Formats: sequence, structure tokens, C-alpha cells
Amino acid sequence: MDYDVIVIGAGVGGLSAGAVLAKEGLETLVLEQSDAVGGCASSFENSGFQFDVGACIVEVLEAHESFYDRLGLSMRDYITFLPNDPLYELVDILSGERFTVPASAEGTAEIIARHSKADADAFMRFMRKQGKLMDDFTQVVFTTPQYGFLDLLKVFAKCPRALTGLQYLMLPFNKVVDMLFVHPFTHRLVCNSAVIGGLPPSRQVGMMLWQTYAEHAGMYYPQGGMGAVPRAMARALDDVGGEIRLSSRVESLLLEGKRARGVVLDDGTIITSRAVVSNANATDLYLKMIGEENIPRMVAKGLRSYELSPSCAVGYLGLDYRPPLQAQHIMALADPELIDLFWSDVCDNGMAVPQSVGLISSPSYMDASLAPEGGAALSFITMAPRRPGGADWSEMKWDYLEHGIEMLDAIYIPGIKDHIVFKTIATPEDFEEKLLIPDGCIYSYSMSVLSQMIFRPCSRSKCIKDLYLSGASTHPSGSIPGALYGGLLAADVVLADMNGRRRG
Ligand SMILES: Cc1cc2nc3c(=O)[nH]c(=O)nc-3n(C[C@H](O)[C@H](O)[C@H](O)COP(=O)(O)OP(=O)(O)OC[C@H]3O[C@@H](n4cnc5c(N)ncnc54)[C@H](O)[C@@H]3O)c2cc1C
Repeated sequence: MDYDVIVIGAGVGGLSAGAVLAKEGLETLVLEQSDAVGGCASSFENSGFQFDVGACIVEVLEAHESFYDRLGLSMRDYITFLPNDPLYELVDILSGERFTVPASAEGTAEIIARHSKADADAFMRFMRKQGKLMDDFTQVVFTTPQYGFLDLLKVFAKCPRALTGLQYLMLPFNKVVDMLFVHPFTHRLVCNSAVIGGLPPSRQVGMMLWQTYAEHAGMYYPQGGMGAVPRAMARALDDVGGEIRLSSRVESLLLEGKRARGVVLDDGTIITSRAVVSNANATDLYLKMIGEENIPRMVAKGLRSYELSPSCAVGYLGLDYRPPLQAQHIMALADPELIDLFWSDVCDNGMAVPQSVGLISSPSYMDASLAPEGGAALSFITMAPRRPGGADWSEMKWDYLEHGIEMLDAIYIPGIKDHIVFKTIATPEDFEEKLLIPDGCIYSYSMSVLSQMIFRPCSRSKCIKDLYLSGASTHPSGSIPGALYGGLLAADVVLADMNGRRRG
């Protein structure tokens, strides 16, 4: 064999799996089809501005700490995370009123108390309860592989408290919010957690309220831009003896019967290995790289039944001034019903018009080196249909960008359109073409109950031996911490299997 393990893809999920395996003495090769590491969490430079391709928020720092701990390295030697405080600047899209949300839960409770004392108390109770649940999640749920019902039971046996969170998993976000809080202001405030999770309040799972806790527990931006996260992970992987090859696209898996024995690249090169870990989307892995003829029909059917998470468009702007922002991230304060309505226009009706309830991020607000002197880099993320009704993204993307700029100028940053010296846009189609993300879906599969835990593809393939899965399309979930934990889980399973075999 050429290698012990080949990892397909250098997103945070592939890098975390690859580095741990290399650290454990396995000859590990990570193959990345693009010319940079990081996938959705990478950055690009243009005209002196550094932009985040997609992800712009780091939460659950424990995931990053666990990664460096597993390698016996100190995170501080590789990357600096700058705390976001305030977390957001919120703009009431009807009245134009603005305020900031502080990083401290107490500070946010004070803002809520201006509208409802009862809600402020409920908010603090919620935060305390979530804090305990969060420990269970990082220590047990995110680190226990989920193959079947017994694994689910193991999780609840190890942390019975997680059972109390079940109602949040079964109910939609807006119903949980109704249960916890009474005042419309609080509803509007916490509904942004649903939006960050990629669904409107009525379609989001109640568990996503966890986001409100997670951001108050610590929201960060990496010095050097989001791409600094995967670059630091790649450096750590190199330091522990792993190897990365960029611009190397895996076309198919090399199979020996029902066993993975390496990969075939798109130029026909064959690289053999004892095991393969895939960081690519699980549906693409099975249906395209392995082929339906090599997997049970039920598996193919199951994979097709997954609902993808929504897709989005990102506008990237280089500015010749520093806009008067009060935080890196700006969001709308809007009624849950209005968010639902916007959502329906985009996702049900395929309307490709930038809606005002996305996320605006100015990375240079946190790290001035990400823009030329006196300037700023800014991006805006809006939910966008994968296939706009009857039209083609390539024909309409520039109009979409112009509409987005008009929306920014009208609602969030008046005057911005006179300061744009660079602009470009990535549509769901671009995400699919450049990063091989099906439909440009931001979190891989949806956050619905039927694609979580044992329902999500698991770390060890059930139908192809010596094949493992890491990253956003596996347990625990999409998002940077989810993909990172997924990579650590995959590495643990590979190691357990290989050690078992050695002993055998
Ligand atoms: C616009 C946007 C905004 C987001 N915002 C946030 C945020 O603020 N915070 C957050 O936590 N999460 C955010 N997310 C989600 C988060 O970025 C992803 O869930 C996470 O980065 C996924 O990591 P991954 O390693 O699983 O997959 P990916 O990042 O998709 O990486 C997979 C890698 O595999 C490579 N690859 C795929 N197929 C092949 C192949 N055949 N051969 C070789 N290489 C291959 C790809 O090129 C890619 O580099 C956002 C996502 C998007 C798109």
C-alpha cells in the first residue's frame, strides 16, 4: 500500500481526522481538489482585501482545543482567536433602530429586561441550563459515534440531562421560543439563532436555540481571517508527519470487492491505502465516487431521502473607507413571521432577491490587516435558491449582487455604495462547482431531527469496509465545530479498527 490512510478533502473535517491519524504514526495523505485548504472555512484575497469564502463565526472553542490537545500541541502556537464583543449589531428593519448585543449573558439579559423582566429572568435560567447541556454535548454527544439505537442509548445513559433537551429536538424553534419567553422583543432577538442555523423559526429545530447559548459562551474571529483556521490545522498536520496534496481531485474510490483500497484521481492516478476517510459530502461519496452499483439499494434510497441544508449567496465588497460599524457582525431584528415569509419566497418560490435577514460580516473590523490601510473588507450572506425560478445564476448573479448592495445601503450601512472599490459574488452554483458542495448547501444535511445523530451518515461506513466518513455530513453536524468533532470521531474509529486488527 502507498499509504496507511488517504483522506479525501482538506476541509476542517478532513484536516482534523488526518492530523490525528498522522500523529498516531499512520502514514496519512490528505487530497484536496482545490488549490487551498479549508473548504467552506477558507479565505481568498483580491485587490488587497481578504475575504472569508463562507464561514465567518467561530464558536465552541473546545473543538479547536481538543484538536491541538490530541496532537500534543499548544493551540496558541498555531492560531489566535479574537473574542467578538459585542456579538452583533442589530438593526430593526422596520424602524431602523440599532443596538448591540454584548457577549455577556448578563448584558443581554439587561437589554431584555428593558422590555420584560420576566423574560430577562427566563433568559438567565435558560443560559444556566444550556451551560450544563453544552458540557454534555462536547464531552459525550459530539464524541460518541452513532451507528444505531444502542449508541443513542449510550449517550443518554452517560448524560441523562440530554433527555431534558429532547423536547427542543422534537419541537420547532418558534414553539420553544413561545414556551420560554413572553415578549415579542425577546422572540425577535433570539430568532437570529434560527437564521444562523440556516432555517426560519417555524422550520428550524428547537435545539438550535443552543446557538444563543453558544455565542454567549464565546464567539470568536481568527486573527488573519477564517482561512487561518484550516491553515493552522494544515501546519499542525505537517508538524506531526502528515502530508497534503492540493489540486488533487478524487474521481472514484478504489474498491476490492466491498473494501476501500485507495482512490483514483481525475487524471487517472491510482493511490492505494489500507483505509480511506472521506471529508466529501456523504451523498456524493456514495452515489458518485463509489457508484450506486456498489452499494445496497436501500442505502442509495436513504441517501437520496436526506434533505439538504439551505444554500446561500455571498457578496464580497472591498471598501475605501471604514464604515461606522459597532461590531463585526450585523443582523436584522425582525419578527419571526417576517423571517418565515422571506424564507418562503426564497426556498419555496425560488425567488433570487437578496432578503434583508442575512448576516453581514466585516472581518477587517476585527483584524485591520485584512484590508488595505483605511479600507474595509465586508461580506453579506443571504439565503438563496439553488435553482432560481426559471433562470440561471450565471445570467443573474451580477444583478443579484447589485440588489444586495442596494439593500445594504438602504437598511444597514447608508452611503456604502459610494465606497466600493472591489465587488464579487459567490452563488450556490459557485459553491457547488468550486467546493463540490451539493446544491451549495451550507451545513450539508438539514438540521431536521431526521438527519441528526443515528439518522446522519456515521463515521464508519456500514456497506464498504475500511471506509470512514468525517465532516459536516456526518455526526455530529454541519458547522466548523461539528465538522471538526466529526473528523476526530472518524480518526478514533479508524484507530480502534486498526488496533483491533493488529491485536487480532
Ligand atoms: C456561506 C457559508 C457560511 C457559513 N458560516 C458558518 C459560520 O459562520 N460558522 C460555522 O461554524 N459554520 C459555518 N458554515 C458551515 C461550515 O463552514 C461547514 O459546515 C464546515 O466548514 C464544513 O467542513 P467540512 O470539512 O465538513 O467540509 P468542507 O468545508 O466542505 O470541506 C470539504 C473539502 O473537501 C474537498 N473535496 C470534496 N470533494 C473532493 C474530492 N472528490 N477530491 C478532493 N477533495 C474534495 C473540498 O474541496 C473541500 O475543501 C458556513 C458555510 C457556508 C457555505
